[in-house]
Amino acid sequence: MLLLGSHVSFDKNKQLLKSVEEAISYGANTFMFYTGAPQNTNRSKISPEKTEEARKLMQEHHIDPNTVIVHAPYIINLANRDNLDFGIRFLTEELNRCSQLGIKYLVLHPGSHVGQGIEQGLQNIIDGLNTVFLNDHHQVKILLETMAGKGSELGKNFQELKTILDGVKDNERLSICLDTCHLNDAGYRIDEFDQVLVEFDQIIGLEKIECIHINDSKNPIGSHKDRHDNIGFGTIGFDNLLHVVNHPKLENIPKILETPYVDREFAPYREEIAMIKEGKFDNELLDKIRMAKSEN
Ligand code: FE
Ligand code: FE
Ligand code: ZN
Repeated sequence: MLLLGSHVSFDKNKQLLKSVEEAISYGANTFMFYTGAPQNTNRSKISPEKTEEARKLMQEHHIDPNTVIVHAPYIINLANRDNLDFGIRFLTEELNRCSQLGIKYLVLHPGSHVGQGIEQGLQNIIDGLNTVFLNDHHQVKILLETMAGKGSELGKNFQELKTILDGVKDNERLSICLDTCHLNDAGYRIDEFDQVLVEFDQIIGLEKIECIHINDSKNPIGSHKDRHDNIGFGTIGFDNLLHVVNHPKLENIPKILETPYVDREFAPYREEIAMIKEGKFDNELLDKIRMAKSEN
C-alpha cells in the first residue's frame, strides 16, 4: 500500500489531534510531526485525553499509528562532545514523549562534528546512542536520516551511517530514514535510484529503510546545500521522485513530504499528494495553490 503524507504541525493545546486533523485535510494516510518547535526545547506535557481522541480519529480515517513518524529537534547534536549530555537527556525525553503518544519511530539527524573530525564525531554519536538506549526502555525506534553534508554534517554517505549502526549495541532499535533532497545534495543520483538502492543494500541492507522523506532539491547534485523544493519543481524532477515513491522494494514504507510552503504561507501538501497519486506532473501547481489560497 502507498503510505503518503507530509510534515504537519503539533499544537500545544490540541496536540496530536491537531496533527491528525491536518493530515486528514491533506488526504494523507500517514504523517510526521515535531513534538514542539524544532529549534527549541519548549515541550508541553502530553495529554492522555487528547492522544486518545487523536487515536480514535486516526482509526476512523484508516491511519495506522504504527506508520506515523516524529522528527527530533535540530538542536540535538550527538556528534558534538561538548553538548552530548544535553543531547542524551533531550533525546531520552523525546523517546518518552513518542512512547506516550503511541508513536514507534523517531527520525534523528545524526549530527555535525563541528570541527572535532569525522571519526570522533561518529564515535560521539555512537556513545550518545548507546547511553540513550541504556537509559530508555521504551520500544521506540530511532531512524537516522541521510544528510546533505552541509557544513560538518555526518550521515552524508551510507558508510558513515553503517559505522554508527555497527557501533551501537542495541542496533535493532536503529534504522534509516532516506531523504531524496539530502541524497541528491550529498551526491547520490536519484535518476539512477535503483543503483543507489543496490549500494545501500550492500552496505547497510534494504530492510533498514523504515521511512523516506520525499523532497525535490533547489540545488544540483553534490552541492551539500539542503534546500528542499516542491515536487517536480527542483533539480531531481517529478519522474525521478515518482519512481522512488512507487518503488516496489519500498512498498509499505511511510513517505513524507517536507516541501516548502508556497510563498512561505500556503501548505502545498494536499495538492502535491494528489499530484503524486495521479502520477502526472502539473507545472502550474504552485500558481494554482497561490491563486486558490489567496482567494480565501
Ligand atoms: Fe530531517
Ligand atoms: Fe528530511
Ligand atoms: Zn533537509
